[in-house]
Amino acid sequence: MYRKMKARLDKVVPDVELRYKAELAAEIMDLKQKKNAVILGHNYMEPALYYSIPDFVGDSLELSRKAAQTDKDIIVFCGVKFMAETAKILNPTKTVLLPSEKAGCSLAASITAEDVRALKRHFPGVPVVTYVNTYADVKAESDICCTSSNAAKVVESLKSDTVIFLPDEYLASNVARETGRKIVFPALTPSPLPKSGEGAGGEGIMIGWRGRCEVHEKFTVSDIEAVRQQFPEVAILAHPECSPEVVAAADFSGGTGAMIRYVEQSKAPQYLLLTECAMGDNIAAANPDKEMLRLCSVRCPHMNQITLEDTLNALKLDRYVIEVPEEIRAKAYRAVERMIKIG
Ligand code: SF4
Repeated sequence: MYRKMKARLDKVVPDVELRYKAELAAEIMDLKQKKNAVILGHNYMEPALYYSIPDFVGDSLELSRKAAQTDKDIIVFCGVKFMAETAKILNPTKTVLLPSEKAGCSLAASITAEDVRALKRHFPGVPVVTYVNTYADVKAESDICCTSSNAAKVVESLKSDTVIFLPDEYLASNVARETGRKIVFPALTPSPLPKSGEGAGGEGIMIGWRGRCEVHEKFTVSDIEAVRQQFPEVAILAHPECSPEVVAAADFSGGTGAMIRYVEQSKAPQYLLLTECAMGDNIAAANPDKEMLRLCSVRCPHMNQITLEDTLNALKLDRYVIEVPEEIRAKAYRAVERMIKIG
């Protein structure tokens, strides 16, 4: 295990740490096999975890697909709670484990199922698209889910001028621009509400919610200008959870999987990813010929909860088990499955 990790991480992780983490990873691999488990790792996991124990790594959509296909008894999700819930929604008979109870998400916490029901009462008949970065009960109130990589495709699939898109204010604004819609953020009481069809004949309407990712909201246009001044030829990639101004000032915007492909397939002298910092390390490890710049003062406190130590304990102690009540799961399943079919 040490040799495998060293081959990939020699320039990214100091040797003393690598040896310690390789021992943990070897123990996890052993237990994983004994317990017939599969480990899914999100692109934001730290390099020593990302390049050692997962059977599959990827973005939310890619991992949802893998979760739907697995024949293992246990799914260990190295990501945050809403992702592990999605795996449970797709695999009700399997045990899904999340290594840390603290791996939440500011975006998922920004909206409740009752908020969605209130919006539906105000806009009867308007389809509801919910970002996968939400909890199961919110998904259950939705017509369809989306990820940052397929959001525009999902919205367009609905063939509706007016769409409710929850809960990320910035992702909604970016998708509204991409799909030619006007974005509105209605106050529900009292309600000066846009009417369905207000934009008909011109632009459609997207009804948003003021949730934000506490990581991506921190990047600014000034950050981009400062980096460009120092590195004039840098390629800057912004996640669509960044503000529309930041996305407009970047060279490329896409989900984490699309960012990885962009770096692999292009030839800029430097790259800057406006997303969780660990992803820059993971891309640097796989592409030693590419120079990655990092703004690592911005970290996701939730993703960073997932460690090799906690993953080992998750397998040893069968913790923390993700449960979703069947009534909610069955409704959420329809929204997630509909998204997966769209691709
Ligand atoms: S990066 Fe943002 S959206 Fe992703 S888990 Fe962290 S807080 Fe949530």
